[in-house]
Amino acid sequence: MAAIAFDRFEDHLELLNPLQNFAPERQRVEIYRDPLLGHTSVYNPAIEAGLKVFLNDVDRELLARLAEETAQNCVFCPERVEGVARFPDALIPGGVVRLGEAVAFPNLIAMGGYHSVAIVSHAHFLELHQLTPELIGNAWLALRQVMTAVRQRDPAAAWTTVHGNFLFPAGASLMHPHFQMLIGSTPYTQHARLAAACREYLEREGSRYHDDLLQQERAAGERYIAATGRWHWLAAFAPLGSNEILAVHEHEGDLLRMDAEELRDLARGLSAILRLYQDLGYMSFNYTLYARREPETPDGFQCLLRIITRQNPAPAYRSDDFYLQKGLQTELMLHRPETLAARGRGYFPGV
Ligand SMILES: [Zn+2]
Repeated sequence: MAAIAFDRFEDHLELLNPLQNFAPERQRVEIYRDPLLGHTSVYNPAIEAGLKVFLNDVDRELLARLAEETAQNCVFCPERVEGVARFPDALIPGGVVRLGEAVAFPNLIAMGGYHSVAIVSHAHFLELHQLTPELIGNAWLALRQVMTAVRQRDPAAAWTTVHGNFLFPAGASLMHPHFQMLIGSTPYTQHARLAAACREYLEREGSRYHDDLLQQERAAGERYIAATGRWHWLAAFAPLGSNEILAVHEHEGDLLRMDAEELRDLARGLSAILRLYQDLGYMSFNYTLYARREPETPDGFQCLLRIITRQNPAPAYRSDDFYLQKGLQTELMLHRPETLAARGRGYFPGV
């Protein structure tokens, strides 16, 4: 096993603070660098202390009004769901996959190969703590049936990602809970970077990066949260989004080499993290689950789920994706990862 280096750097700002009668102040920022991909994330304790400047409260009145208005014409609601797109019968007999409350079908406008959607619930709007393991698991297993059908007929479709955009700050066009999936012949940027870095690490160190990461993080205990089956949950050292939590599979990089129970284990963990997020004051999130078809020669890739919070829905909400993220690909950390992990552990007993 290779030792993974968790590098942190510091920078400073000196100012005369008008909120403290222009008293001199020295602010320290900590820069965290991801050991695998090299991206940076920045933490300033002053932000955590004054978090309300960055994080507006959830506007429940707005959400209730939007839920009522948008339910009138929502095509994902059970009474109109017959109107969604269908796969050709040759791929999915009957055109859609139904499992519990989940319905999987093609996206109307493709952003990648086999772009699919899974409606998660009959309910038009759910809060994060209402996204149960059963709802999440059924949506993933419905998408897994699409994955299986694609695998059988298209050998080029090797790169699978599953996603969630929850509410408009996260990019959702519909309020109704739904997930998305892409299965492409070419990995998109972040997926390609992840796969290339895993391969290079294996070649350089002779071990898999995420094996080494899990071993080291479990031993240190600071950012490790819990396990659900073969999935291990931890707070990201250098997040790509706010409050990022990772789930890493112990050994598998291909979702179709796992049984249904392993996706149920992942769903139990995601549901727990969503409860944590709601209790921390968040109501909008994105996640991405990265996977690929098992190659003939080992490539060191293990399935990875990244989940992040987004700005809370409000009439004049401020985007959390500004020059720091768009221009510098550096995320602002609202909490230290160690703090997030400590809070997260309480959500896992009995999951
Ligand atoms: Zn709906």
